[in-house]
Amino acid sequence: MPIFEYECKDCGFISGHLVMKPSDRRKLACRDCGGKKIRKIMSRFASHKSEGQRLDEFKPSDARGDTFYKDDRNIGLWAQKRAQQMGLDLGDSFKETLEKGRSRKILDNL
Ligand SMILES: [Zn+2]
Repeated sequence: MPIFEYECKDCGFISGHLVMKPSDRRKLACRDCGGKKIRKIMSRFASHKSEGQRLDEFKPSDARGDTFYKDDRNIGLWAQKRAQQMGLDLGDSFKETLEKGRSRKILDNL
């Protein structure tokens, strides 16, 4: 899947975005502050994986132990993966809910 990471120039938030065609790029906005000044990044920051990477590597069929469920960043990952496989767009409100649920853990890692 063509998921690229973009860094917000206003707040520094990094989010993974699905970009299928050039017109998708123009609709992208920061998931944290909604800013439109975002730039594509190639290298990854810090130690935690991006949402896009986690989603790519995540396999719903894998056994999920306690550590998976204790990691807040995995909240909603299964639903996202299923939607991705089915080609569904869960919409911005779903993503917002996910980000809120995960944000505490993400902040801990900064
Ligand atoms: Zn931002």
